[in-house]
Amino acid sequence: MKQIAESKGIILFTKDYKEKDKLVKIFTESAGKLMFFVKGAHRKNNPLTPAIMPYTQGVYLGKFNEEGLSFLNAAKEIQPFLKIQQDIFAAAYATYLLTLTDAAIEDRVYDPNLFHFLQQALTLLDEGKDFEIVTNIFEIQILQRFGVLFNWEQCQICGQTQGKFDFSPKYHGLLCERHFLEDKHRYQADPVAIHFIRQFSKVSYQKIQSIHLKPETKKQIQKVVDQLFEEYVGIHLKSKKFIEQMNDWGNILKPTNENEENTEK
Ligand SMILES: [Zn+2]
Repeated sequence: MKQIAESKGIILFTKDYKEKDKLVKIFTESAGKLMFFVKGAHRKNNPLTPAIMPYTQGVYLGKFNEEGLSFLNAAKEIQPFLKIQQDIFAAAYATYLLTLTDAAIEDRVYDPNLFHFLQQALTLLDEGKDFEIVTNIFEIQILQRFGVLFNWEQCQICGQTQGKFDFSPKYHGLLCERHFLEDKHRYQADPVAIHFIRQFSKVSYQKIQSIHLKPETKKQIQKVVDQLFEEYVGIHLKSKKFIEQMNDWGNILKPTNENEENTEK
């Protein structure tokens, strides 16, 4: 991998390095996550500046090293996610998805499926699709990158696939109503929330248009997702905390149509 390489990439984050330079973490399609050193990134009219803005994707060219830092030489086909760059709510959710991706896999692990999944999620946030639904689908489906794989299809005891379900930490999966008593520490989750999480575990982002949820249902879904992450992933991301804080004060700032009653399918 020592030679000059070229790959599509998504900026995960950037940070200042010494006075004039930057470190830029890019999730590349062809070589996984890499940390790039960008010399003189703070210099005015550095041609790389637009390419390394937060919430940007493009094609990145440079020396992709197997150890240590990589080096960025040029970029083309730069596509900023403009709405995300300009909207603090969209940006908060995007930052969370980016940090979650960074946490989920090791650097230099080739994972084009996750790359495309992240790309789709960011595109949807950028289009102003429901931030919470985009994020919950991402959270549920990225669980397996943390080594957590649940069977969302059926009751872990009897294989039932229809009806009400709850999540059981004892059985690491679903229980049908008939077997709720088998785990007294079951999540006591809202069956409607579990219903949607089961959908989210297999839905593709193309179908997201058809999902509309009431605020209360979203709250119940988030509660279960948070329990799952607490119990099985155990990471605490600042970007996630920020979304929670933002939602506490955010209701005052949100555009009014966000509070409209949505129909549920
Ligand atoms: Zn059962």
